[in-house]
Amino acid sequence: MEEKQEALENQSGEEQIKKGVRIIQALRGMKDILPADQKYWKLVFDKVVALASHYGFERYETPVLEEASLFNRSIGKDTDIVEKEMYIFEDLDGTKVALRPEATASLARAYIQHGLWNQPQPIKAWYWGPMFRHERPQSGRYRNFYQFGFEILGEAAPIADVIIILLAYNFYHELGVPVSIQINSIGCVECRAKYVEELTQYFRGQRSHLCEFCKKRLQRNPMRLLDCKEEQCQPVKQNAPQILDSLCDPCREHFMAVLEYLDELGLPYFLNHSLVRGLDYYTRTVFEIYAAGEEGASQAALGGGGRYDLLVSTLGGRPTPACGFAHGVERAASKIREAGRVLPLDEKKDVFIAQLGEQARRKAVVLFENCRKAGIKVAENFYKNGLRPQLEAADKLQVPYALIIGQKEVQDGTVIIRDMESGNQEIVDINKAVGEVKKKLFLS
Ligand code: AMP
Repeated sequence: MEEKQEALENQSGEEQIKKGVRIIQALRGMKDILPADQKYWKLVFDKVVALASHYGFERYETPVLEEASLFNRSIGKDTDIVEKEMYIFEDLDGTKVALRPEATASLARAYIQHGLWNQPQPIKAWYWGPMFRHERPQSGRYRNFYQFGFEILGEAAPIADVIIILLAYNFYHELGVPVSIQINSIGCVECRAKYVEELTQYFRGQRSHLCEFCKKRLQRNPMRLLDCKEEQCQPVKQNAPQILDSLCDPCREHFMAVLEYLDELGLPYFLNHSLVRGLDYYTRTVFEIYAAGEEGASQAALGGGGRYDLLVSTLGGRPTPACGFAHGVERAASKIREAGRVLPLDEKKDVFIAQLGEQARRKAVVLFENCRKAGIKVAENFYKNGLRPQLEAADKLQVPYALIIGQKEVQDGTVIIRDMESGNQEIVDINKAVGEVKKKLFLS
């Protein structure tokens, strides 16, 4: 049985198809991130790390798997994510667990669990990691995708909202992707309740003009109707009452202060009274970042966030004002690629080690290690035997020197140092090769 399995595994993919063996593919909506993409992902990651460091945010990592109730209680039962997109299953001990669909709830959980309120406030956190949503896969939407985000916990002042928006904007701006900010306030529990009543009444009067989906949502989450992208709902939406007219004084003052800061900073923002965001935990400021020119497109936001003053207390912590944002890494990487961003060159190598034959390869691998430990940036191709392809590879890498070990050099205990530009070669004792190369490279 085992032999049969081993024989199968040794067959090439083509042979397996011919013999009718099913080739396993990644799950629908989940994708491998291969080196061609990793180059852009690295740009994204490096920018995130640089921004975190400039703005004084610290990295937090939370588990991918959480108790499912964490998300039910925070994101909200009537949201798309909780209603139909969460990967939920029973753990071996019977606990209902979920693969995280986002990380803000997990961070709020960690804030409570580790008593972070005892530390000087605010807590400025950033994260990066995989998220899972069982959505219909389509361009730019996956079931396993990555997000990074910045959160400020324990600060109520508008400046915290502004720093979060600034970070979200600067990320793209500094990577050469023109973006704009869509912003709105959805008020607090009190002023929103009054607004929702007014809105419900309005939409009820327009029920016959609404799409089927909105008719259903009207009962449970009327603010989400403002988000509807269906053609037939647009005129109804346009005449809907606007939340800004219903904000209580403190919510209005907070929002005005945020906008004044944005004006002061010269950030390009647009008031969007239909912007409500999908999750229950938001209060007051909400915003989304769009690539310039894509503002109206459905599900095109590059990222978004806002204030969530009630999240920590909803999860059993003390009242903790907070705000944050999340950007999708896949979207960021593809936008950066589209913007024609020139990738940084790979690290330049100092020397290439070429070898001829098995005996030489043994010496070469030791020399490779010795060079590396001595701080020399060294390249190799231990998988080729001929000298020509190896020297061609060395040429391509534009290394100044190649170290060549053939059978004669193995016998003599020497190595050839070849100046790649002039073609001049010298023979040195293999034990002195590292020192010689360092001298040539002016390495101390
Ligand atoms: P959200 O947490 O829904 O506000 O999403 C924030 C950002 O994460 C979005 O603007 C996207 O860039 C990204 N994102 C959300 N869902 C997905 C998904 N299914 N696939 C890829 N990226 C996503």
